[in-house]
Amino acid sequence: AAKGAGRGKHCFYEPAMHSEASDRQLLENDLRQALERGELSVCYQPIVRAVGEDVAGFEALVRWTHASRGAISPAKFIPLAEECGMIGKIGEWVLKTALAEAARWPDRVRIAVNLSPIQFNNPGIVGVIDRLLGESGVRPGRLELEITEGVFLAEGDATDETFARLKNLGVRLALDDFGTGYSSLGYLKKAPFDKIKIDQSFVRGAASPSSRNSAIIRAIVTLAESLNMDTVAEGVETHDDLQLIRDLGCSQIQGYIFGKPGDAEIAGQLARAKSVEAEGFQCIREPR
Ligand code: C2E
Ligand code: MG
Ligand code: MG
Ligand code: MG
Repeated sequence: AAKGAGRGKHCFYEPAMHSEASDRQLLENDLRQALERGELSVCYQPIVRAVGEDVAGFEALVRWTHASRGAISPAKFIPLAEECGMIGKIGEWVLKTALAEAARWPDRVRIAVNLSPIQFNNPGIVGVIDRLLGESGVRPGRLELEITEGVFLAEGDATDETFARLKNLGVRLALDDFGTGYSSLGYLKKAPFDKIKIDQSFVRGAASPSSRNSAIIRAIVTLAESLNMDTVAEGVETHDDLQLIRDLGCSQIQGYIFGKPGDAEIAGQLARAKSVEAEGFQCIREPR
């Protein structure tokens, strides 16, 4: 809940926590140099249309391969980057890298990039996106920015204006991880989202008979349809869940069943292949 509130906060550590705190400090120092050392990479996970199974686009997901510790999850280092002031630089690099890749794909294939609330609330963000779009030559309508409700919780209320300026650029906006956190319906009213990404916690195992998740997914899909938004079910891993998600009318699907995040080469092949069969696309590999 304290996401983004970390800077300048005083914490009291138990003696046993000292090592954890200094480990964090070490990791933070390494993260500061990760970009110039070439330790960061971007991988791409297909987002597939529920009907027809063609590839609607890819989500860019950043990876950090630490020199001695190996792969470190973005769930761990993105919050660190947010707290130590690195997220702007890293986020801009991801955006630039992902747009350069998307420029090589067919025009119908979109690229989705995650935007941290801190990036979003930086007044320069619209200019940065405009410039990077121009440099890449990617049509703005192909770029989808994934935003969490964190943007509404962070300080600074430039959000309404930022949303309007982004829509003016012609990019698409997706509300990520929907259903977690506070998920006030007011957020849907507040911002011109084109898409809702239903969080994995509702999707995984939704097909089991005792699950209440399918009722929740159904409600989200109905809501999204009446607001003219697409829906993506995240984290679809099994055929049972895939079947259910289709029956519930989600428009797009993202999950291991259609492909794990893969390197740029694999993504390029898949982008041109157009359609993808569940579990039919086997050459899945993460970038090194
Ligand atoms: P997210 O934006 O919700 O991304 C989806 C996450 O779910 C990814 O994890 C993806 O690999 C994972 N996933 C997709 N399908 C499945 C599935 O079927 N099963 C399972 N178990 N997992 C699945 P990843 O890459 O570890 O990223 C975690 C989070 O880190 C992302 O969640 C996003 O919040 C953040 N993140 C990743 N890259 C970036 C970035 O470039 N910028 C920012 N600001 N955040 C990023
Ligand atoms: Mg995302
Ligand atoms: Mg998500
Ligand atoms: Mg997430």
